[in-house]
Amino acid sequence: MISNKIQDAINAQINAEFWSAYLYLSMSMHFESEGRTGIANWFKIQFQEEQAHAQIFINYLNQRGGRVTLMPIDAVPTSWQSPLDAFKATLEHEQKVTAMINALFSLAESENDYATRDRLSWFVSEQVEEEDNARQLIDKFSLIGDNGMGLYMLDQELGSRVYNAPAALNE
Ligand code: MG
Repeated sequence: MISNKIQDAINAQINAEFWSAYLYLSMSMHFESEGRTGIANWFKIQFQEEQAHAQIFINYLNQRGGRVTLMPIDAVPTSWQSPLDAFKATLEHEQKVTAMINALFSLAESENDYATRDRLSWFVSEQVEEEDNARQLIDKFSLIGDNGMGLYMLDQELGSRVYNAPAALNE
């Protein structure tokens, strides 16, 4: 059985992952309405990834005989000044998520819950990737600035992103 303390913390993390999903779906809808379909596609895949993150925690809590409690999802922003602005907000958000995952990891260690710590290791690596992705896109959009051809080409590039379900979903 899992301790109540860890169970509550994982339930809070499930809510945070769904909030992330909601944030990226909102970004996707914003750019869709602006005719930036490639950026909209990138954020829609990000939305799917966040749902997978929530599902991984849900599966894990069930496997440990815990109880998943779904809580209300807070409102998310609905518009951004520019793609650069949205990717800066993405990086800022992912840095907060990294801090949450790290705090959860510390909690698992202090509670001697090694199974939870192991499950969290996947998320620790995933956060490195999330922050790196956002940083790379901030660099690209900063470099391009207002160049129309550059923006068109980067939108095309982001339009080619496809969703790959993380292997951790089936563990
Ligand atoms: Mg996540």
